[in-house]
This record gives sequence, structure tokens and C-alpha cells, in this order.
Amino acid sequence: MSWVGATETAEAVVAARKPYKLVSRDFHPEDSVIRVGDIAFGSSKVVIMSGPCAVESRDQVMESAAFMQHIGVPVLRGGAYKPRTSPYSFQGMAVEGLKILAEARERYGVLIVTEAVDHESLANVAEWADIVQIGARNMQNFELLKAVGQCGKPVLLKRGLAATIDEWLMAAEYVAAHGNLNIILCERGIRTYETKTRNTLDISAVPVVKQLSHLPVVIDPSHAAGQWQWVAPLARAGVAAGADGLIIEAHPNPAEALSDGPQSLNFRHLEELMKEAGQIAQAVGRTL
Ligand code: PEP
Ligand code: MN
Repeated sequence: MSWVGATETAEAVVAARKPYKLVSRDFHPEDSVIRVGDIAFGSSKVVIMSGPCAVESRDQVMESAAFMQHIGVPVLRGGAYKPRTSPYSFQGMAVEGLKILAEARERYGVLIVTEAVDHESLANVAEWADIVQIGARNMQNFELLKAVGQCGKPVLLKRGLAATIDEWLMAAEYVAAHGNLNIILCERGIRTYETKTRNTLDISAVPVVKQLSHLPVVIDPSHAAGQWQWVAPLARAGVAAGADGLIIEAHPNPAEALSDGPQSLNFRHLEELMKEAGQIAQAVGRTL
């Protein structure tokens, strides 16, 4: 038996295990800092993003944006395009919703993160928003990821419902390989055998991804928990584990929400969570 080529073989094995390149820490040993407006993901400041699951009306968005400004949340979330499990559920306000979000940015000085679900919505979201969100259900929509690579805006890339960390990083690699390294990874819970929570928040993804990749990682405790009562503890755990940000669903009146009401915080609870997250951030040498 010959050992010629053994080194190459070993390298191939390692490469196969870690097939991403641009998003890998080997490629870029320092933490990447993704700047959007006057905020930065991956710095000592933990970035809070919050707002309703879906844009439902102008009033709902303005009320939300005013509150975010009031408590110092720099990024407003809200889906104008909603990937719903049922075709009969509210599907979103599309471009009209994007215009409302843009108006909220003008009035309240918040940045906007909102989801694109296909090529058409991507063009619109890239035009009106500050950060393009790619949802869990589209994490492996490779044609969409290629287009996101060329969209010219930072991207919040959620982990797929049943995606491994390597698959998630490969999805990020698609975006990077097509020209966009402004990627913020978002752990939002994965599907496990546990059914009490909507998903299982994989808190270990934070240190694991931070070792494998230079990209910032944020936590979405809302879609992991599925119930508002569990959102704050998971958010605190995320900050303690080293997450670079949080994205939290909050609604002026969760009971009336057209989507994800049960997991949405009311504004009083969001304000409390901000204080708690601030204390945890301080304990791990960071600020909000
Ligand atoms: C959302 O942010 O409202 C959403 C649909 O999230 P996910 O893609 O993580 O389910
Ligand atoms: Mn939602």
C-alpha cells in the first residue's frame, strides 16, 4: 500500500468537512464587523432589532417605530412579505408594507430589516430596506442566495428549520461567493423531537459558528420559543453566550397580531427585556 498522496488526501478530507471558504475564519481570522448606517454588528455593542412579525397597517408600524426610538432599539423589524405555513393565513402587504417601513425610518430614525421571499420581493426589499432578511424556509433557496449576493445590501441569514451548522454556513458561502460578505447569521431555533417549544434554540450555535466563521451571529428567541413568556430567558442566554445581537418580535397589541401573536412581546415586556439584556451584556463585557 502506497502512502504517496496521503497529505493531499488528508487535506481533501478536511476540505470536505469544512467546504466553505470565504465565510470561514481560516480566510479571515478577525471578527467581521458589518456596518449598517451608524450601527455595527460584531462590535462590542449588542444590536437589538425588534418590531412586529408582519407589517399590518401604517398605524401599527408607526406606533412600533416610535416605541423603538423611545427605548433605543436601533433596528425595526416587520415582514412585508410573509412566508406562511398556510396559504389562507395573512400573506403580507408587499410593496405597500415596504413603503410604510421606509416612512417609519424617515420619521423615527430606525433602520429597517425585512424579509425577501423570492427574486421579485428581493428587488423591492433591497430598494426600500437597510437589511435584507432571508428566512429559515429559504435558507437553501440557492438561486435566491445567488441574487442576494448581488443585491448590494447587508443580509440577515436565518438558519433553516432543519439545517446543520455546515449547511447554514454553506448558504452564507453562496451569498459571499456572489459578491456580498455583509452577512449576519441568525440562529432562530431548529426542529427537534421537543414539541413544547416551537423550535429548540441551539444556543451552542453561537460559540460554534463564532469559532468556524468570522461573521456576526444574532439570536432570534421569538421563533425558537413560540411563546412570549420564554423569549426573555432565551434572549438573556443568547447575550450571555456571545451573540452579537437579538431580533425580537414585539407588537403594540399581541392579542390582535395577524401573525405570530403568541410569541410577540408587548411593549412593556420588551422594555423590561432591554434592561435585562443590558445587564447581561455588561456582565460579559459588552453594551447594548
Ligand atoms: C420572521 O422573522 O417572521 C420569520 C418568518 O422567521 P423564520 O424565517 O425564522 O421563521
Ligand atoms: Mn414571525
